[in-house]
Amino acid sequence: AKVLGKGRYEIYDPVMHELAVGRLSLESRLRQALHEEEFVLHYQPIVSLEDGAIVGVEALVRWRRSESELVYPDQFIAVAEETGIIVFLGIWVLREACRTMVRWQQEFPRDPALTVAVNVSARQFAQHDFVEQVARVLAETGIRPDTVKLEITESVSMMDTEYTVEVLTQLQRLGVCVSIDDFGTGYSSLAYLHSFPMDTLKIDRSFVAQLDRGEQGRQIVGTIMNLARDLRIRVIAEGAETSRHVEELKTLGCDFAQGYYFSRPVEPAVISGLLAARPAA
Ligand code: C2E
Ligand code: CA
Ligand code: CA
Ligand code: CA
Repeated sequence: AKVLGKGRYEIYDPVMHELAVGRLSLESRLRQALHEEEFVLHYQPIVSLEDGAIVGVEALVRWRRSESELVYPDQFIAVAEETGIIVFLGIWVLREACRTMVRWQQEFPRDPALTVAVNVSARQFAQHDFVEQVARVLAETGIRPDTVKLEITESVSMMDTEYTVEVLTQLQRLGVCVSIDDFGTGYSSLAYLHSFPMDTLKIDRSFVAQLDRGEQGRQIVGTIMNLARDLRIRVIAEGAETSRHVEELKTLGCDFAQGYYFSRPVEPAVISGLLAARPAA
């Protein structure tokens, strides 16, 4: 411990020191990464449980820190969020995902058209010009707005209800779709759902995992399915990992799913291959 004077001590803790330095350099590395275009998007198919067809993809960001090093979002999204970098990263993700989807829609026409889901962080959603930013990307890329799905988490949507409803309404006016991500993990009361203009609810994978436990797990997912049906909200089950999950989800009336059983998030070229392998509807 080092004496700072007047009985104040600063404990020199090498671990804390490293953490602080690590965070600082991570922040500047993230800024640099944005500049030097080191971020890449992987895409995970979202499939129709009826026939296994790919109906859309979710864009998931990765940081290509070096040729051999791919960094996953759990390593940098939190810092990007705290530092505000997420605002720029988020717009980049949206633009890149829309550009890529426009190409897929042209190359692989489907009816209904393929959709792209993009994650929106709380900080991004709170930007006063968020709706304008989205509108700009739509105009720049020329994507059909109704094929864009913005995924917001429950915690975002519950923070300030009035503001949230206002923004969601404006987004719907633009024609884009809104999904509630990780449904069931937040603090929301189910009743809130009535007041939110949104199209899709994504059941968090922790509930899908519960399907392995028999009746109790089935009841939870079943309850969410019934609620969504009453509200006419589409449901996508996340984290479908096994054929058992898929069968249970079908039995419970779930129409769409996403998970390792179908595909991990993959590079765009792999998605192109999957889409090419299937004749246009
Ligand atoms: P999320 O939005 O819930 O995305 C789904 C995560 O679950 C992805 O992890 C995906 O790889 C993983 N996953 C998909 N299927 C399965 C499965 O069957 N089993 C298991 N165990 N996992 C599965 P990933 O790509 O590491 O992303 C983690 C989180 O990082 C995302 O969770 C999202 O919250 C955040 N994230 C990713 N990309 C972005 C982005 O562009 N912007 C923002 N704001 N957040 C992002
Ligand atoms: Ca998501
Ligand atoms: Ca999710
Ligand atoms: Ca999640």
